[in-house]
Formats: sequence, structure tokens, C-alpha cells
Amino acid sequence: DSTALVTAEMVDDVARKHFPPCMLNLYERLKRDHHLKHFGRLQLGLFLKGIGLPLDEALVFWRRMYGAAMSDDKFNKEYRYNIRHSYGQEGRRANYPPRSCQQILTSHQPGTQDAHGCPFRHFGPDNLQTLLASYRIERGSAEMKDIMDSVKASAYHVACTRLFEVTRGIKRGEGVGGGESVTHPNTFTKRSQEIESE
Ligand code: SF4
Repeated sequence: DSTALVTAEMVDDVARKHFPPCMLNLYERLKRDHHLKHFGRLQLGLFLKGIGLPLDEALVFWRRMYGAAMSDDKFNKEYRYNIRHSYGQEGRRANYPPRSCQQILTSHQPGTQDAHGCPFRHFGPDNLQTLLASYRIERGSAEMKDIMDSVKASAYHVACTRLFEVTRGIKRGEGVGGGESVTHPNTFTKRSQEIESE
């Protein structure tokens, strides 16, 4: 397919410009804590595979993110296998696809210490608005109100689609293209990258 190669070096830039809130949150938490719990690693790791980060670059990326706090030995013993596994290079050699919004919204409900899940569904209103501020959506703005109204109505994909439209200067109702709403984090990123290069 047409997915371009992403290197470990490039992830930060792609994150700031093109990640949906669920993935931006995981990435920021990983940067801050040099750690993510199992389902967070899985959600972010499969997504990164989907945006075109190949296995060798994924190993570089995760090693770097865990930082000096983790020994090479621990990384090799506890993490290398799981990363290779998620790329279908270990065990059953299954090619695990990146998680869809539906899967993220409904499976493995996050606990208070977890960073995985969908912020529109799993964050409280205050934390959500703080996260949305990194998309330059101001508290008290009409756009924020619009998004928060959808969240209140449990229409999480509508909220995410509205965020996409607002932050990319797209008309309401256009969605990620042809009126489609956001149903997959990888589509969010892919369409955002396409719009940037149009
Ligand atoms: Fe991520 Fe989907 Fe939630 Fe948007 S709606 S934040 S893409 S899980």
C-alpha cells in the first residue's frame, strides 16, 4: 500500500502534527514516564506499525523512549520479544492489525493508572479539555463547546471527527473525506498527512 516509511526519528514530528488524541496522549505519557502499561504499549505500538514504522525502527523507538532508566538487558528480555511479536515475528507469527476506534472504545476499560483507551470516552471533562488544548482548541470557544456537547451525548466518534475538521480547516460534515467520520486512529493520521501534502 501507499504508507510511507516512518523512522524512529520522525515519530515526534508526526505525533505533533497528525496523531489523534488517543495516540497523542499515549505518546506524551511515554515521553514523560518512559513507561507504558501493557494495553497502552499495545495500542500505541500497533498504531505506529500502521503509520509505517517498520520493526527495526520500532525497536529503536521503544528502546529510546524507555531511556536510561531501563537496562539493555531488561529491554532485551522483557520488551524486544513483545515488539517483535506485534510485528508477527514471534510465536504464532500473526499479523496483528492496529486497533479500531470501536475496539479502543469498548475493550480493556482503562483503570486510573492506564493511558490507553479513547480520551473522548475515558477522560473526565477537565483532562479532556487540557488534552484538546494541545490541538489549539481553547476552553470556552465555540469549537470546544461543540466537541464537548458530542462527548456529553456519548457520540465520541462525532467529537473526534469534529476535532479533525476544526483543526484541519475542513467544512463541517466532510469528516475524514466524503462525509466519513473517524472510525480508526490510523485513518485520522493518514488523512491528516494527505491533507498536509495536498
Ligand atoms: Fe482515537 Fe478513535 Fe477516540 Fe479519536 S475516536 S481519540 S481516533 S479512539
